[in-house]
Amino acid sequence: MRKIWLVAALLVLMVVPVWAQSPITVDAQNITSEFRNNITATISAHGQTDITEVEFFYRVRGQPATTRNDADFSPGTQIDASFAIDQTSIYFPPGTVLEYWWKLTDANGETLKTDKQTYEYIDNRHDFKVLSNDRVSVYWYRGDDKFGQALFDQANVALDRLENTIGVKVENQVKIFIYGSHQDLLDAIAVGAQEWTGGQAFTDFGVVVIGVSPSNLDWGLKATTHELTHLVIHQATDNPYGDLPRWLDEGLAVYNEDPDTLDVQFRHSFESAVKSNSLMTLQTLSSSFPADPEAANLAYGESGAVVKFIIDTYGGDAMKKLLDIFSEGELYDKALKEALGTDTHGLDNAWRASLGLPPLPDFAPAQPENQSQNQPVSAATPQSNSAAQAQPAPTAAPQPEKSGGLPCVSGAIPLALFGMVWVARRKK
Ligand SMILES: [Zn+2]
Repeated sequence: MRKIWLVAALLVLMVVPVWAQSPITVDAQNITSEFRNNITATISAHGQTDITEVEFFYRVRGQPATTRNDADFSPGTQIDASFAIDQTSIYFPPGTVLEYWWKLTDANGETLKTDKQTYEYIDNRHDFKVLSNDRVSVYWYRGDDKFGQALFDQANVALDRLENTIGVKVENQVKIFIYGSHQDLLDAIAVGAQEWTGGQAFTDFGVVVIGVSPSNLDWGLKATTHELTHLVIHQATDNPYGDLPRWLDEGLAVYNEDPDTLDVQFRHSFESAVKSNSLMTLQTLSSSFPADPEAANLAYGESGAVVKFIIDTYGGDAMKKLLDIFSEGELYDKALKEALGTDTHGLDNAWRASLGLPPLPDFAPAQPENQSQNQPVSAATPQSNSAAQAQPAPTAAPQPEKSGGLPCVSGAIPLALFGMVWVARRKK
């Protein structure tokens, strides 16, 4: 047995140097960044003959596609090459982790590929503090340690709830960046973000960015829970074929803010719509939400309430099963039937009955299922009942990952508009 190992070791010793030998030698390499401006990688190398091609490869950790780029350099036996990822045209949120490597080719066609390295792209304009565990990291720079601790604790409560009620766990650690003012937030997210944006969840990067001033902690705790829930649900159901119905995605986020009581900002609209038998149908809420703030309040309230109904009536296991089925890209009605034994229309009627409302007409005007990939997941969530102050929700979200070689990754880039009334209040 020992002999076999010895022979194997000798073979490795003999093979490795030959395999590793390349006429090209790397002398130095580096990567630096200026947030919202550029990420620049450089490499110096020499060869026995002219190095004629230098390629820089990178991919965002957690995303499938790799981009290949030609570096800037002058061919020669000694080269200094660089490649800059222009962050004014491609947007990466803070906390993005890049995996990158170089490939150099000389005039004889000999190549050298460097080992894969990682780089964490951070917003170095602020002096972030961080609290972290294996599920979540919370970064903040304004406010004292108590402020950061409160947000970190809330994030963990939100994750515990998801795990305990519906059995969904974080797959990849989530990073939450808390910007200390609305202006700082706007300066940190993609150009094109609406002025009233209160935060943004970059689901394909595993990053949530929220603006929370130390005086606005209560709102920040809710916003953190809401956006974190979107992110974890996205991780659990991401697939190339379809999204969740909007009411389910938003409903889980609203429900997870407080599983016992519907948030006061939605409760009034919801209760008066129940009273006047004027609820929107789940079919309607399967695609986009209304732009009108009052109607949006109702849409969020209904979504939270129906998710609570599903969990209370069918159980957390049924909700987990539903999400598992959706992670296969199943159609809305088929998934509901398989997990709950009823389709959208039937669920709507069961829920209505629990509220003391008559069933919907049997042939409700069918709405096409919307399973498009690029719908914003969250929209207007006005902060209070004084929603008239809030500005209307957008019909399309700014797309933080504007190509630049990056794939159009499946899944949505949800927009949190929690800050709508916050902004309105500041203007007051
Ligand atoms: Zn949302």
